[in-house]
Parts: sequence; structure tokens; C-alpha cells
Amino acid sequence: MEAADVVVVGAGPAGSTVAFELARHGHHVVLVEEHARVGRPVQCAGLVSQRVLDLAGSTSFVRRPVKGATVFSPALQSVTFRAAEPRAFVIDRAGLDIHLADRAARAGATVLTGWRFDGLDAPPNGSARLRLLGPSNEARSIDARLVVGADGVASAVARAFRLRRPVEILPAFESEFGESPGDPDTVEVYLGNELSPGLFGWWIPDGDGGARAGVAVNAGAITAREYCQRLERQIARRFGRPLKAPTGFLVSGIPIGTLPRTSADRVLLVGDAAAQVKPLSGGGIYTGMRCAQIAAEVAHRALGSNDLSARALAVYDASWKAELGEEFSKALYLRRLLLRLSDADLEKVVSALKGAGLTEVIVAFGDIDFPTGVARALLRQSPSLVRLFPKALSALLSSGGVRAPELDVGPRRSP
Ligand SMILES: Cc1cc2nc3c(=O)[nH]c(=O)nc-3n(C[C@H](O)[C@H](O)[C@H](O)COP(=O)(O)OP(=O)(O)OC[C@H]3O[C@@H](n4cnc5c(N)ncnc54)[C@H](O)[C@@H]3O)c2cc1C
Repeated sequence: MEAADVVVVGAGPAGSTVAFELARHGHHVVLVEEHARVGRPVQCAGLVSQRVLDLAGSTSFVRRPVKGATVFSPALQSVTFRAAEPRAFVIDRAGLDIHLADRAARAGATVLTGWRFDGLDAPPNGSARLRLLGPSNEARSIDARLVVGADGVASAVARAFRLRRPVEILPAFESEFGESPGDPDTVEVYLGNELSPGLFGWWIPDGDGGARAGVAVNAGAITAREYCQRLERQIARRFGRPLKAPTGFLVSGIPIGTLPRTSADRVLLVGDAAAQVKPLSGGGIYTGMRCAQIAAEVAHRALGSNDLSARALAVYDASWKAELGEEFSKALYLRRLLLRLSDADLEKVVSALKGAGLTEVIVAFGDIDFPTGVARALLRQSPSLVRLFPKALSALLSSGGVRAPELDVGPRRSP
């Protein structure tokens, strides 16, 4: 019987980060990936902050810095924010995943590609027995003192350990285009309940002359693919000419909302498996990698003291929530408010953002990993934005929605 200290399921950014951190501490780590090639298929728009480059310890996968963003209202009114320095980076997402898995392997982790975690068998004393299926459905078992579920939004590890799944999973659809008529260092955000109810539509240059158009939507009468086609028509209107046919598609899901527990006896969840995703943007690479580092610190101590009980591992939940929990709950609250805005309200939001001094506020405070900071700064600065929200707030409260966290908008100018 094969045995390891830790089996990490899923060689995405979160799984490979945990595997690297634990292997470099000398633990015997096996990193299991169901696909034959790490990083494929790509399921991402590939926009990250400098923090991701720092956590990855490399820039080899960066394609292009991004300095600006343009937000479009449903009627294509627009406001552009442009910084002097790069605020984000378009990356080769497969390149990031490959770099991180190679780094874990160089630190001593065994990387098993083409093997799928299929469930748990009756656990022997003092470990968890994982059942894996290979490329031709051949079976293999590994005993692990600790299992890390880094297997993405549909986490089989979470299900096997009976951990609760995210309440909300937004279906996402992305089309890839070989050429982009837009500015290669500006991302575009498209608002509108007809285009992307649930998040927003995006047009992100791929750093290679093309771009990706995508949506993540609340489940509704039409599919994410149809919403994406509507978005593509909107983008064509904005450019004043039809887009060329897409060269590829991507279908996935984005988990939204915080899980009550991301640990239990002998298991930790990280990344999308733990719904460690920014609720206002659906981005999860930075948050997943940072939580993976925290998971590895907790796991290293628990392996050292040989206490892998739910109680010992609960430190992980407390630690990552201490760092990101407040940002996530404020963002969830803001997201629910934003979802209550009609298209007419969204027109007013974009008009308000064009108001005196607000683009400067966004450029000064904008941070794609911690967006509630800029929201707070904007609400402090703009009475016309604040006026839009009581309506949304009362709609939310009358629908029995969430309890408001302290958004602390602070002193306001009188209207
Ligand atoms: C359309 C779209 C666009 C996005 N754009 C961005 C963006 O621009 N910026 C950003 O920060 N985030 C973005 N995200 C979110 C981001 O892709 C995820 O948050 C991130 O990939 C999560 O990393 P992870 O390591 O937790 O999981 P994943 O990257 O999903 O990796 C999970 C891995 O586990 C493997 N796996 C799954 N099940 C098993 C199993 N049973 N056995 C073995 N292996 C298994 C999978 O093959 C996969 O390799 C986007 C998401 C979508 C859907």
C-alpha cells in the first residue's frame, strides 16, 4: 500500500501552492491531478494582481501589464480609469499552473497526472485511504495522514468528507477571440441585467493580440452561453463592428459565499473547493493561493504534533477568515446590494462615477484583491452614489436578505 503524509487533490494554483509549501518543509507529499497535463484545459480569464506574481515567485507566465479599466453601462455610457503603473497582469494561466506544479515537484512533491480522486475507502487506523482512478480506469489507493481538497468548484474531496458546499455557484461562460480591436492594456467591464445578471461581463485582452469575453450569471431562464452571446453583441456595438468568430469556449462555475467549515478530521479545503473567491469579481487565484499558504502552515504544525483532528485543523478556518473573512463578508453584502440595482440605476452609477474626483479615487484606492476599500472611499465621496443604495437596501431587507456588515462609509458630504 502506498502511503504519504499528505495527498493534495488538484494541481491548480491552490493545490500546487500547498504541495510546494509542505514538501519544502520535508513532508512526503503526493499531488494528484486528474488531467494528463497540468493547466489544461484553461478555465480562467487570466487577470491577476502583483500579489499572485509575488506568491508564485516568478513572472515567467506574465503576458502583459494592465493599467486601465473601462466600465460600460447597459446603454454603453462609459467611464475609464487609468493608472500610471500596472494595476494587474494578464497571464498565461496554463503557464502559471505549470510553473507552480513544477515548483512543488522541485521541492520534493510527487506529481501524479492523469489520476482522479474517486472517493475514500474504509479508513485504516490513523489515516485516510484515497481511491484513485487512472487513465484507463485502473484503481490505485494511497493512505494519507492528511488530505487537502484543492479540486476546484465541484470538489469531490469536500463531498467525500461531507463538508458543506457553496450555496451559490454561478455558471460561467467565456469565448476566446483571436483578435481584439480594443486597447491591449485596458480591461473592459460590462454592466447590465440583460447581459450578466449575477456579476458582470468582461472583455480581457489575452496579451497575445486576442481577448476573452465572459460572463458569470445567476441561474435563470437562459444559459450562461446565451448571456455571453448577448455580451458579444454588446461588445460588437461598442467597437462599431462585428467580432470575428470565437476560436474557443470555456464553461465552468464560480463559487460565491463563505463555507461554514473548510476543515474537518484529516482534511483541509483550499481555493475554489473552499469557495475562497472574491464575491465582487469571482476572481480566486490570489485568495486561493494565499489561503493555501495558510493551510500549509497549519498542516505543517498539525503533522509535527501528529494531531490531525478537526479541533487542531480548525485553526486554519480561523486564520484564513481572520485575514480575508471581513473583506469577503463586506463584498458579499455589496454584491447583494448591486444585484438589486435596475439597469436605470446602473446608468446612474456610471454617470456618478464620472463625477468630480471619483476616477481619481478609484485610481488611488483601486485594488482588485480588496475592492471594498474603493467602494467605501467612493461612497464617502459621492452623495449621488449613496442615494442609489437606500432603494437597493430596502429591497434587500424586504426580501429577507443578508444582515449588513459594518461598511463604515464614514462622514458624508451633505447632498
Ligand atoms: C470563466 C472564469 C474566469 C475566471 N477568471 C479569473 C481571473 O481572471 N482571475 C482570477 O483570479 N480568477 C479567475 N477565475 C477564478 C479562478 O479560475 C479560480 O478561482 C482558480 O482557478 C481556483 O484555483 P484552485 O486551485 O482552487 O482550483 P482550480 O484551478 O479549479 O484547480 C482544481 C484542479 O483540480 C483538478 N481536479 C478536480 N477534480 C479532481 C479529482 N477528482 N481528482 C484529481 N484532480 C481533480 C482539476 O483538474 C484542476 O486542475 C475565473 C473563473 C472562471 C470560471
